[in-house]
Amino acid sequence: MQRPRLTREGILRWLRESDEARLEALWNEADAVRRNTVGDAVHLRGLIEISNYCVRACAYCGLRAPNHALPRYRMSETEIMACAEKAASYGYGTVVLQSGEDCGIATDWMACVIRRIKAETPLAVTLSLGERSQEDLRVWRLAGADRYLLRFETSDVELYRRIHPARSGEQSDRIELLRMLRSLGYETGSGLMVGIPGQTFAGLADDIEIFGELELDMIGVGPYIPHPHTPLGSGEMAIGVAPEEQVPNTVLMACKVVALARLVCPEANIPSTTALATLDRREGHGLGLCRGANVLMPNLTPMPYRTLYEVYPDKGAIDVDSAENREQLRTRITALGRTLGAGPGGRRRAACRHSAPD
Ligand code: SAH
Repeated sequence: MQRPRLTREGILRWLRESDEARLEALWNEADAVRRNTVGDAVHLRGLIEISNYCVRACAYCGLRAPNHALPRYRMSETEIMACAEKAASYGYGTVVLQSGEDCGIATDWMACVIRRIKAETPLAVTLSLGERSQEDLRVWRLAGADRYLLRFETSDVELYRRIHPARSGEQSDRIELLRMLRSLGYETGSGLMVGIPGQTFAGLADDIEIFGELELDMIGVGPYIPHPHTPLGSGEMAIGVAPEEQVPNTVLMACKVVALARLVCPEANIPSTTALATLDRREGHGLGLCRGANVLMPNLTPMPYRTLYEVYPDKGAIDVDSAENREQLRTRITALGRTLGAGPGGRRRAACRHSAPD
């Protein structure tokens, strides 16, 4: 049966809904849409955090350049290849290469790593390296990169400018960059943090509408977690909005955004994120998977580096080694009655947008 489209007012109503019984309808609808579109398979993407150098000064992120308390690292080609081989041997279909915005990641070096992963393994390659030039993105796509993740964080231009200052002399327009990534042939992913100071319910409803407009292939959302070595996390920077307008950075609110993302982009690949599992170590991953998500991103970063990739403190699974993590996730997926995804698990393309539960 065709239900009415989810309107912006509908999105806003769900974001403000607090009645647990009514919210069950949202969870059930998101879960049903997930089952009917992307099925029961949970795809595992091995995350390799290749560098924590960053030129930016984002007010929320522990990797920001002015955080001098953080020792910096950049993995070698050999180290990255060892992680990729591990991903393939674990049966993961994809590796995600993520970093701070690191000028030390040279265009040709990265292209060579991508070419080697594509030639020596069956893996899909997802990049998440921040805002890079069109030329870099073109070269990496030609080298074989399949997907790119770049969260736009907020569509509120004024809030974005404050929490994500532009580099001197440059403009930062991630929504424009996402369109360019799409035109270069990447499967394109974006998303945001839920509950960042200054994020209002109205602004978040706009952001969720934009997920649909951009027809994203992947949508990553997780709760904002304050980092004490950042202006927002230390309280040094305050962004004032009326308390009743501020979105809370809770597991519940993050789950609502996962569910609504599933309804506006039914075919998208949506992870149950590490940030969600960090706020609720026992249930977080499972809640996301039951409320619209179909992807998990186990961490493959070598142990000594993993603690240094500290976008926020006390990241989940920080002390669990890759093999143990894989087993835990496998058990969790099976316990939910879901299956393990096989192969790269790329985006199936059909119409975006789905019906709304009333
Ligand atoms: N340099 C890349 C990757 C950044 S880390 C980029 O900018 O795209 C990936 C994501 O972690 C960010 O997009 C942001 O949404 C999230 N993140 C950063 N700081 C966070 C925090 N304090 N709490 C929760 N998520 C955070």
